[in-house]
Amino acid sequence: MISDKDDTAIVRMVARGIIELGAVARLASFSMPYPRSAQLALDKLVATLLETPGSAPLSVPGLVDWARYRPLKDWPLSIPDDLLTGDDLLISARTGNPSQLCVEWAADRGELERNALESLRRLADDCSTADKYLRHLMFLVERPVVIEQELLKLQDRRLLRVWHRVRDLYEPVPQRYVFRDAAALCSACRFLMVPAEGMGWVCETDDCASYFPDGDVHAADQLFSLPLGLRWFVAHPGRTELALRGSLESRGAAIDHRHDHLVVTWQDDESWVLMTRDRLNPALLARSIGERAADLRADRVLVVVPGNRLVAQPDYREIFARNLPTAASTAELVGDDELIDLASARSCRP
Ligand SMILES: [Zn+2]
Repeated sequence: MISDKDDTAIVRMVARGIIELGAVARLASFSMPYPRSAQLALDKLVATLLETPGSAPLSVPGLVDWARYRPLKDWPLSIPDDLLTGDDLLISARTGNPSQLCVEWAADRGELERNALESLRRLADDCSTADKYLRHLMFLVERPVVIEQELLKLQDRRLLRVWHRVRDLYEPVPQRYVFRDAAALCSACRFLMVPAEGMGWVCETDDCASYFPDGDVHAADQLFSLPLGLRWFVAHPGRTELALRGSLESRGAAIDHRHDHLVVTWQDDESWVLMTRDRLNPALLARSIGERAADLRADRVLVVVPGNRLVAQPDYREIFARNLPTAASTAELVGDDELIDLASARSCRP
């Protein structure tokens, strides 16, 4: 941070502008008119940098260039150090899509994650039993993208009932994922793939970045995808959450699956709340779970992230702890592997 000024609100605006821009076109080839949020973000950035002549981008395409090529830490803005994450860009160099970091910034102090979790809350309210809710949740987590014709061919009535109930949560595949009327889902993680010049299709998730899974290509109008918020804040961490659920049950815990956390009750009535999340930026994670964690009552409130995040970023825990609101200061951050160790130790207790 270069002064007492705090420009984080501008970064949020830019992130939301980039996402809105990406929703209407590929970020490499968009044209006017630009979405209002992108123009507003540019205007705000220019106004903020007025005292530093020549330092601001001159146009929306210039702003996109910054997001694509200039790591956030090199922007001439006052951003607390804890909110800066390595050399991350707001537009992924690999996919040309808004990056995971951009999605996290766009969700900060905003509606993106809240609306996704609210959709889940409504789904939970509509399901008459816990088992029914779990079936619907598993559908969303296992199928961030649905090939409707293939689903219909299965003639699995139970699955089709779930599909009819959740269909409204899905949307046609956004144009930036479409090439020559086709779209692809990743053969490994089943998220969408992005058409990349000279490279065929590349998976939109960073999890598949180290290798190149095949694209399962279909006519674009046959595919339906969860919108961005549900893909990143529900389906993505949902896989870790469902795996944890199975592991904990096998160790004797009773699980109550709520829309944004698990309540784990051990045989002696000790209770844990698990909030499973997957965030690159530990400070944004702490801010996002802060209020909610303060409301939850249990013997332990555990925020669970993929263990590899803690290995890749050694100060992840420290930054998370520093940015946790006081009311939620008892929340503990653990990797998913550590959680299993804790559960194993717990289940071995006499
Ligand atoms: Zn993938």
